[in-house]
Amino acid sequence: MKEKLQSLMVCMRILKDRNFKDGKDKIIFLGTAGGRFSVFYQIRKSGGIWFHLGGKTFVIDPGPGALIHALKNKINISKVDGIFLSHRHLDHCADINSVMESMVISSKHSKYLLAPSAALDEDPVVLQYNRDKFNILYLKEYTDYYIDGLTISTKLTHLHTTPTFGAVFKSNNYSFAYIADTLYTDRLAIDYKADVVIVNTVFKNQMPGFMHLSANDMYAFLEIFKPKLLILTHFGMGFLNENPYALANEISQKTKTKVVAAWDNMVLNLGDV
Ligand SMILES: [Zn+2]
Repeated sequence: MKEKLQSLMVCMRILKDRNFKDGKDKIIFLGTAGGRFSVFYQIRKSGGIWFHLGGKTFVIDPGPGALIHALKNKINISKVDGIFLSHRHLDHCADINSVMESMVISSKHSKYLLAPSAALDEDPVVLQYNRDKFNILYLKEYTDYYIDGLTISTKLTHLHTTPTFGAVFKSNNYSFAYIADTLYTDRLAIDYKADVVIVNTVFKNQMPGFMHLSANDMYAFLEIFKPKLLILTHFGMGFLNENPYALANEISQKTKTKVVAAWDNMVLNLGDV
């Protein structure tokens, strides 16, 4: 009896695709933590950025807790088409194998995994036995990857401690950019042109010795390019103590650009931007 009830609950969980079943293009933040303390003490969640765009559903950087938070949010993981992994650091990839297995467990369709070779070959974070049902695409700088109605375009190799890539994700209707971990360079603002730009800002101010963006780097970015909406995320503990919402407001007012600090479980409908 108990087993039957459990399997019924699993079926309900799979069928009840609350977030993507309407087919709308949207981005769901199942985590906004960045940096070691914030992630590994789970001050914020680190379940990745899930999106539906151009008829495809993907997850970006499924960090610790991605599987459990996706299931809690009623995402039907067997309908997720692919994973974009920016780099091999644990706060970005800890749950990648669990999510991969969940994607193929009840699906006959092959899936996509885009990742740098450092995450696949040199010190792999993706288990070999888990790769069979995936089209594995190696991330290289300034490359376009066409996945039916979705185009994923990488830009420069980021200035980080391991090969790292962001991308512009584009359909016929909308585009958004994801700027993963990196030091600031004006090239970011030249390359990552999209309606919505999501930026991993671990710090409020630049921290010498750490290859991460700070929120205050966004003043230089916005001098060169102003998206319709700039979203700050991937917050370290120090930044969280300093109120990222207030700083996003300040940047917004000073630059006359819409800037928000993301929160866990934030849903952005791209049609509303
Ligand atoms: Zn990193």
